[in-house]
Amino acid sequence: MSNYSVAKFGGTSVADFDAMSRCAAIIKNDTQVRVVVVSASSGVTNHLVALCDDSLTEQARAEHIIAVETIQHNIIEKLSLDADITHGFMATLEQFKVLAGKCQFSVAEKDELLSFGERLSSYLFTQVLRGQGVAATRFDVRDVLATNDIHAKAEPNIAKTRDNAKQHLLPLLNEQVIVTQGFIGRGDNSLTTTLGRGGSDYSAALIAEAIDADQVQIWTDVVGIFSTDPRLCHKAAPISKLSFDEAAEMATFGAKVLHPATILPASRSGIRVFVGSSRAPEQGGTWIEKEKSAVPGIRAVTQRKNQLLLTVKSPEMLLASGFLARVFTILAKYNISVDLVTTSEISVAVTLDNAPNASRPELDQACLNELSEFCHVSVENKLTLVALIGSEIQLRHHEINLMSVLSQFNIRLICHGASKHNLCFLVEQADSDQVVKSIHRQLLELSN
Ligand code: ADP
Ligand code: ASP
Ligand code: MG
Repeated sequence: MSNYSVAKFGGTSVADFDAMSRCAAIIKNDTQVRVVVVSASSGVTNHLVALCDDSLTEQARAEHIIAVETIQHNIIEKLSLDADITHGFMATLEQFKVLAGKCQFSVAEKDELLSFGERLSSYLFTQVLRGQGVAATRFDVRDVLATNDIHAKAEPNIAKTRDNAKQHLLPLLNEQVIVTQGFIGRGDNSLTTTLGRGGSDYSAALIAEAIDADQVQIWTDVVGIFSTDPRLCHKAAPISKLSFDEAAEMATFGAKVLHPATILPASRSGIRVFVGSSRAPEQGGTWIEKEKSAVPGIRAVTQRKNQLLLTVKSPEMLLASGFLARVFTILAKYNISVDLVTTSEISVAVTLDNAPNASRPELDQACLNELSEFCHVSVENKLTLVALIGSEIQLRHHEINLMSVLSQFNIRLICHGASKHNLCFLVEQADSDQVVKSIHRQLLELSN
């Protein structure tokens, strides 16, 4: 393992010139950071997602394109661009405008379009670093981060990424800080792919793994991972240390501060992860490490909105073997990942993520049709998955408080037991903020 660090800056951290300058100061003060992974400037990816919509009017399309350009120009105004940056940036902006002006896109073209946010911000951030006297070079991450060909939800090819990093990235790191893009990669077919919304955290961890870094820093707009979303509960408190398992569960179940897959490479390769605020680096943050928490109990509550509940019912399930296998084979065929599962004798209910801003909707009609061939299918939406996260969670320690909170709401499904790190349930979306606040108050504020 080297003593390199990889630092990732999220959308708000690279939203404008001042934000980028704060990030550049962090890099300047930490000479171990050799690779910087940037997101698109705040708001840009949402415009790009909107542009992927084939039904957009000409006027709306033009407005989104202008909005993306304006965000870039507001940054450039404060910079004096070197020739290499001007050349690359202008060419990339031009390519963006040509592609965005089309009105129909293949899945591959959608990924290409989504990639422009990170491609543009990485030019500007490189220039901001140079402005602070840091020798920095922009690097196209697609030359390293290899993925499969599943557009919008690509999965990394770890071995190929490592080989690429050895060949193209590692030799550069002694001389300069490399600024590269989060979120995007290159598929086997050589086309641009994306890792899913919020995927830059995952990119940073993958690159850290590929260069044997010992640390990934995730710089965002909060001073670490909190006991719940601090935007929702003002009494939420930052957690100074989390185990890989706890952090992974939190990210999986909706703590937006980390992309759910980020912890995978880190825990696989023993890379420490730090989460802190680029606005207030002096305030420290959360360290995520291998060591398990010594104190059992609930440490956080998270929520994930826009969940679908898919219930599949078959009278034949009674004593029939192979029903579940058949259902899950179809879900796997459509690359649908299931979160919670409950079963009864003749039915199975699973929850699926259906974030409206996702670059790929979760449940295809074709999948529903295939399931309907052998069972009755129903889909409920406007649900939220609420998760209690911790270590060695035992319901009996908390049951009085928890049950009294839950009894006020309509609970659609409960799951506990497969993992001692979480206890999950599904509630109506309209209630979920209130559910989270009540649970936080009863279990994380009053008990402390
Ligand atoms: P970035 O653009 O830097 O990737 P994100 O918006 O993806 O940042 O993630 C940071 C946001 O995550 C915070 O502003 C906060 O509102 C939200 N968040 C949700 N749950 C948590 C949590 N448990 N701890 C900290 N932040 C959280
Ligand atoms: N820009 C991408 C998004 O907004 C990836 C990221 O920021 O992590 O989803
Ligand atoms: Mg994020």
